[in-house]
Amino acid sequence: MALCPECEAIIDIGDELEEGQTLDCPECGVELEVVNTNPVELDSVVDEEEEEEAL
Ligand SMILES: [Zn+2]
Repeated sequence: MALCPECEAIIDIGDELEEGQTLDCPECGVELEVVNTNPVELDSVVDEEEEEEAL
């Protein structure tokens, strides 16, 4: 189990969790990346197209 960092919904994740794995929050639909497995930590994936580019 993990909490969505965006809407704090409880997400039921499987046992076979790997760092770098991505999944969608069933509540708000945000894309989440597994950044840590013990303890489980999720981070929302930001659309790369919205990143600001340096000159
Ligand atoms: Zn969510």
